[in-house]
Amino acid sequence: MKKIDIVIPCYNESKCVELIYSALKALFTKELSAYDWSVLYIDDGSQDDTLERIVKLSNMENSNVRYISFARNFGKESAIYAGLENADGDYVALMDADLQHPPHLLIDMIHAIEEEGYDCATARRVKREKESRIRNFFSNAFYHTINWATGMKLASGMTDYRLMKKQVAEAIVSMREHERFIKGIYSWIGFNSKWIEYENVERAEGDSKWNYRGLWNYAKTGIIAFATTPLKAVIYFGFLVILVAFIYAIKLFAMSVSGARPWQDTTTIILLLLFLGGVIILLLGVIGEYLARIYMEVKNRPIYIAKDKKLD
Ligand code: UDP
Ligand code: MG
Repeated sequence: MKKIDIVIPCYNESKCVELIYSALKALFTKELSAYDWSVLYIDDGSQDDTLERIVKLSNMENSNVRYISFARNFGKESAIYAGLENADGDYVALMDADLQHPPHLLIDMIHAIEEEGYDCATARRVKREKESRIRNFFSNAFYHTINWATGMKLASGMTDYRLMKKQVAEAIVSMREHERFIKGIYSWIGFNSKWIEYENVERAEGDSKWNYRGLWNYAKTGIIAFATTPLKAVIYFGFLVILVAFIYAIKLFAMSVSGARPWQDTTTIILLLLFLGGVIILLLGVIGEYLARIYMEVKNRPIYIAKDKKLD
C-alpha cells in the first residue's frame, strides 16, 4: 500500500485544522481508500489555538496526525521546508489549510504520477474572479517579470498545491538556502510536472495572511533569489546614462560655439548632479538588496526552529 503524506502549513488556522482533516478523511475513506495516508501539520507560530486543535487530533486513537510547531512565525516557505524534510511517505502532498486547495484534486494528481509517468503534479488556479483587479494585475506583472528576468517558466495562477514523489521532496529539501522561493525551487530542480487546473475557491474560514506589502516582498525575493539580472541590468543602465551625458555635452558645446545659447553652467550642473545622484542611489539600492541577502545567507541560521513536535 502506497503512503501519502500531506503537509499542511498553518498560521492561525484554528477553525480550518479540523475542517481540512475531515475533508481529507472523507476522501481517503472513499475515493482513495487504496492509499495509506497521514497528515503533517506545521504550526507556523500561530497565536490562536491552532496548536491545541492539532494536538487534539494527534491524540485520537490510531491517529495519523503528526505535527511540528515552530517557536515563532517563520513564514510559509519555512513551514513547507520543515514539512518536506520530515515527510516519509512514498508521495508527499503540500496543501493550504484553508481548503482553497480542493482535496479531491489529489485523485487527478495521483493519476498523473502513477498512470501518466509524471514526477509531480501542481495545481493551477484558472479563475480569480473574486479577487480584486489590482491584485490580479500585480500578479500577472509579477509572473511576466520573473520569467523574463530569470528564464524560469512559472505560470500565472500556479499554486503551492502539489503532489510529488518522495524523490522530488528530497531534492527540494537538499536546497538549503534561507531565502526560499519555493516556486522558483520547483522550477530549478527540474523533474516533469503536470499542471492540474481548478477554479478558484474562497477560503473556508478566517482571513488571508497576505497583504500588499507581503506580496511585494515575496515578488522581490523571487526575483532576487533566482536572478542576477538586476545586478547586470544596472551596468547597461550606467552605460546608457554616460552616453546621454555625452550627447548632451556635445549638444551644449555646439550651441555655445555657434552662439545659439550661451553656456549656462549652473543649470547643467544642477541637472547632472540630480540625475547622476539618482542613478547612484539606485545602483546602491540594487547592490544593497543582494548584500543584505548574502549577509543573511552567510549567517547560516536554521530555516526554522521547532518548539514542539510529534513525528511518530
Ligand atoms: N501560512 C503559514 N505561514 C504564514 C502565512 C501563511 O504557514 O506566515 C499558511 C496558511 O496557514 C495557509 C497557507 O499558508 O495554510 C496559505 O495562506 P493564505 O491562505 O493566507 O494565503 P492565500 O491563500 O491568501 O494566498
Ligand atoms: Mg488561502
